[in-house]
Amino acid sequence: MDKKIAQILKELGIKAAQPGTSTGVRWLKSAGKDIASYSPVDGSLIGKIKSTDRKAFDAAVAASQKAFLQWRTVPAPKRGEVVRQIGEALRAKKDALGMLVSYEMGKSLQEGLGEVQEMIDICDFAVGLSRQLHGLTMHSERPLHRMYEQWHPLGVVGIISAFNFPVAVWSWNAMLAWVCGDTCLWKPSEKTPLCGIACQNIVSEVFKKNQVPEGVSSLVNGDYRVGEWISSSSQIPLVSATGSTRMGVAVAKTVAARLGRSLLELGGNNAIIVTANADLDMTVRGAVFGAVGTAGQRCTTTRRLIVHESVYKKVRERLVKAYAQLKIGNPLNAANHVGPLIDRAAVQQYLSALKKIVSEGGKILVAGGVLKGNEFGSGCYVKPAIAEVRNNFRIVQEETFAPILYLIKYKTLDEAIALQNGVRQGLSSAIMTSNMYEMEQFLSAAGSDCGIANVNIGTSGAEIGGAFGGEKETGGGRESGSDAWKVYMRRQTNTIHYGKTLALAQGIKFDV
Ligand code: NAD
Repeated sequence: MDKKIAQILKELGIKAAQPGTSTGVRWLKSAGKDIASYSPVDGSLIGKIKSTDRKAFDAAVAASQKAFLQWRTVPAPKRGEVVRQIGEALRAKKDALGMLVSYEMGKSLQEGLGEVQEMIDICDFAVGLSRQLHGLTMHSERPLHRMYEQWHPLGVVGIISAFNFPVAVWSWNAMLAWVCGDTCLWKPSEKTPLCGIACQNIVSEVFKKNQVPEGVSSLVNGDYRVGEWISSSSQIPLVSATGSTRMGVAVAKTVAARLGRSLLELGGNNAIIVTANADLDMTVRGAVFGAVGTAGQRCTTTRRLIVHESVYKKVRERLVKAYAQLKIGNPLNAANHVGPLIDRAAVQQYLSALKKIVSEGGKILVAGGVLKGNEFGSGCYVKPAIAEVRNNFRIVQEETFAPILYLIKYKTLDEAIALQNGVRQGLSSAIMTSNMYEMEQFLSAAGSDCGIANVNIGTSGAEIGGAFGGEKETGGGRESGSDAWKVYMRRQTNTIHYGKTLALAQGIKFDV
């Protein structure tokens, strides 16, 4: 293994054979099977961890529940102070953690560092929030009564995360949940387990210094079975699950059957509408970054470009030219634009999608294919492709987690909006235009049906200050900024009577 990688593993406290279950104070023994983490960058084995068995899982849940009883009584601004220190610890480890994200997941180093920056940003956001967990006061209809609402901590929050944002998505949940007074039990993706270990080590050090009780941050590891234990545990009132729609449906059913709460952040099928009034320089830059960044493995990746017929030919030509300039290779090398897909299964899905496009009548404009040769040792590097398609192709309706961009032509804006909304997913969307009427139509109630609708920027790269998430098969959850914190708390309405005679609401008389 590269010396530099060995050094960052050491800095992040990751051992070659690593236990995978932690309560923040102890690493728990487990008889679970080994999970090996191979880098998609060069195919090297980075390390092995033990997955969590049922006994260790139950012990971690029990520790989180016990910790909750104490953590909920700590004043919120004091909890915020601990999160502030996590932000500082992340600043100190930004380079090492960013590089691990890049090496274990395969995104570019810039994007790996960007992901850690998002974690730092959400820490800052959560610190401010710890003094702003406000409720409302309401006027009572009864004399000498006062009504208000307060927000209380909820309990253990189960977090199930996807491979493509191996650290940031957890932090969006955990930092908010912690200032809200909850404890967290996290299952990272089995494809990026070492990123989870690194985060747990960083947080545990801060927690130890602040005598935070054992179990406020618990880590479990394993595949979908451990995820199912989380979904079915009645001791976990909220399950926040990020991943495919298939996974979200399974989680939603199990959690609903026990009347728990779920927060779902699932697949997207995002489009940019390019109108006749678009700045084409900006459009091409935004579309290319949106389509090939993270090798097309972002939930907000631009998958469809819906282009007005008057500029279609120009956009097509410029895209083909831009794709010819793309450099594909080791994501740790800043000169490369596109890194590898996560694993061979992802490569197979990409190849199968390319075949389906052709069999459904699509036309390939920029050919795809797998890159071979020494510098592409892992076998997971693929060429970004572009195809002309129709929106109703079955393959276009699906989210293929790979760099394939679909071009679709339109005549009227109503038609473009209908095409943009004409998929089962509803995460991110954008319009490129300098025309105010087009912009407002796109943003109106009759416009984009997505959770995110942008103007003159692409579909990917959201800031933490806004609520993040989407509609329809994307799951309806909102995380991160705005008032997303409310999902991590329970609302209580209080009515206080300070008179001498009991008065009933709605003027009901009840004299005894
Ligand atoms: P995935 O669904 O295969 O796995 C995600 C997580 O769910 C993993 O930790 C996995 O072990 C777990 N899991 C799988 N089946 C489960 C089940 N039945 N019960 C409980 N847990 C289960 O997804 P992936 O391949 O890791 O990630 C890619 C997907 O995630 C894409 O669809 C992408 O759009 C989506 N994603 C969405 C967002 C968002 O915010 N909307 C963010 C990142 C990724």
